[in-house]
Amino acid sequence: MSKFLPPESFAATGAYDLLPFNFTRLEGDSYLATNMVGESLIVDRSTLDDLVNKRLAPSHPSYTDARAKHLIAEKGDKASAELLALKTRTRYQRLQNFTNLHMFVTTLRCDHSCQYCQVSRQSEDKGAFDMTLEMADKSLDMVFRSPSKAVKIEFQGGEPLLNFDLIRYIVSKAKVRAAAEGRDLEIVIATTLSLATTEILEYCRDNHILLSVSLDGPSDLHNKNRPRPGKDSYQRFVANLQAAREIVGYDRVSALMTTTLASLPRVREIVDEYVGLGFEGIFLRALSPYGFAVKTRVYAAYDTEQWLKFYKDGLQYIIELNQAGIPFREYYTTLILQKMFTCADPGFVDLMNPAGIGIAAVVFNYDGSVYASDESRMLAEMKDQTFRLGSVLENTYEEIFLNEKLLSTLEESFTLSAPMCSECAFEPFCGADPVFSHAVYGDVVGRKPASDFCKRNMAIFRHLIQLMREDREVEALFRRWSALC
Ligand code: SF4
Repeated sequence: MSKFLPPESFAATGAYDLLPFNFTRLEGDSYLATNMVGESLIVDRSTLDDLVNKRLAPSHPSYTDARAKHLIAEKGDKASAELLALKTRTRYQRLQNFTNLHMFVTTLRCDHSCQYCQVSRQSEDKGAFDMTLEMADKSLDMVFRSPSKAVKIEFQGGEPLLNFDLIRYIVSKAKVRAAAEGRDLEIVIATTLSLATTEILEYCRDNHILLSVSLDGPSDLHNKNRPRPGKDSYQRFVANLQAAREIVGYDRVSALMTTTLASLPRVREIVDEYVGLGFEGIFLRALSPYGFAVKTRVYAAYDTEQWLKFYKDGLQYIIELNQAGIPFREYYTTLILQKMFTCADPGFVDLMNPAGIGIAAVVFNYDGSVYASDESRMLAEMKDQTFRLGSVLENTYEEIFLNEKLLSTLEESFTLSAPMCSECAFEPFCGADPVFSHAVYGDVVGRKPASDFCKRNMAIFRHLIQLMREDREVEALFRRWSALC
């Protein structure tokens, strides 16, 4: 007797049930159907009609695809639903680790006075805006209550290098505790690099610290966006970038940019600047509606349509660079592509569901306050304390992380039950952004048809799908990017 069933046993029967999926119209007669882990199928209208009405013939080319991508399961086939459940668990496996990213605002002081600054910076000499040793100790106690095996500490500001003694203190203590508890520890300093000295860079090298630096584009644009005494932000950046790469390590320095009104017509020059300085990619970021960006009306200086044009132009240029043999990536695109092509969640806080606030990342502010996210702290600087979870000086770990506001926000904004998101075919590629919704609309769910977050993401998802459908080489390039996450 054979160990295996004969091949006919596996033949499609044409009798099937629908597994959970959503669909939406793309352009013309094309429709996108996605299941809850982002596996997708593009079909024409009549095929979609047949599919949802259980009339799709087993001989139809989309039948096998729909089975393989867990949109349908043949009667009696339990494996499809089990596989879908397994992929769903994989997608959410990050949740069991709880908070990984811990941001420390060591000071609000800064040597720059950027108009769009999202933390409402203080001038350089106000010591009252520095984190104290006591707050640092208590914040570290919170960090090491996290169940996450991997702990990431990111120093932010202001300009964190202005309080470098405190960084040394926190790093040395965190290293001892991580070693004693067998945890992986990663440390990042987010800095403009303007105040980086050889001594600071050597310390970063010796302690395996990564540097996340700020670069907005060519010299005139960078200096306009990032004013400082001496008007030499760009010149300092370039000199110190070279030193940082030599001392800390070439691949230990990454860069972030912010898009202002002045950036909009110059995306190709900005990309060229990144390529010229040897970076492997760029994050084409839109401004957030917080802090000085709102106070100085810089946030309202351009709308989503203008930013989308900037993004699409930049992405097109980056594709052309790759086609010319210059490898370079756009990082937001890469994060989305990973969600499109794999069951894994890249863990980017703005594209997580449930939202990443508090449970993926948390902020320990210079004054002892704990915020659910960087954006929550920026809101607080505008006198909105909604997402202040407590204080390291007054509250326990449980009081902070079981804070009712945090839990109800996570529940209400969960995209699989939020109005419109729960029926959106792009939901598996998207995320919940309750702080953005609260900042703009006053509630954590937001009104998706009017939401810039929704509009921006939906336009990007559609654009990426269209680019891949138009050109198989672009699809191959995007698949390579997603594998590099
Ligand atoms: S925010 Fe918009 S694009 Fe994202 S899942 Fe919700 S409805 Fe879809």
